[in-house]
Amino acid sequence: MNKNEVKKKDIRHVSNWVYNEQDDTYICPNNRKVPFKCYSTRTDKYGFLWDFKIYECEDCSDCPLKAQCSKAKGNRQTHYNTVYEELKAKAQTSLWSVPNEQIYARRKIEVESVFGHFKGNRSFRRFSLRGLEKVRTEFGIVAMVHNLLKIAGILQLFSPEQRKMKKIPKKNSTFFFGIFILVTY
Ligand code: SF4
Repeated sequence: MNKNEVKKKDIRHVSNWVYNEQDDTYICPNNRKVPFKCYSTRTDKYGFLWDFKIYECEDCSDCPLKAQCSKAKGNRQTHYNTVYEELKAKAQTSLWSVPNEQIYARRKIEVESVFGHFKGNRSFRRFSLRGLEKVRTEFGIVAMVHNLLKIAGILQLFSPEQRKMKKIPKKNSTFFFGIFILVTY
C-alpha cells in the first residue's frame, strides 16, 4: 500500500470523513456530529496570519475509536484552513491530470534534487522578497550561484593538483572535463 492509500484509510484525517455542507458539519468515523464551532486566527513564526475554522465533535466520551482518532483529553477538534485546503485541492487536481502527471514524474528526476540541494545544503528555504518579479530575480541569483559553484567544483576536480593526487593523465582529464561541461549545460 502506498502513502496515499494509507492516508485514505486513516480515520484521523478529516478528508476521509463525511461532510454535510448544509449544516457545515462533519460526521466522524464513530458516526457522531462534528459541527463548526468558531473561527480562529494564528500567527506563525514568520509573522504570517492563518485563518482557521474550528470544528468540535459533540461527544467523544466512550468512543471505541478514540485512541486511533485523537490524543485530546476532551472532544476532538479539527482546524480547517479554507484557503490552504482549496489551493491544495486545486493543485492536486492539476497534478494528477494526464499530461501534468507525466511532467510531474519527470520533475522528480530532473529538478527535485536541485531544489533539495538548495533547501538542505544551502539552507535556502524561504524567499526574502515578495511579488512575482522580485521572487524571479531572487531565484535567478540563487540558481546562478548554484551553477557557479558547480563550475568551480568541476574546475577544482580537474585542477593539476587533483590530477596529480588521483594520477589522472592530462588527456583523460580533458575528455572528462568536456563531458562534464556538456552535461552541465
Ligand atoms: S474520538 Fe470523537 S471524533 Fe473521533 S471517532 Fe471518536 S467520537 Fe468521533
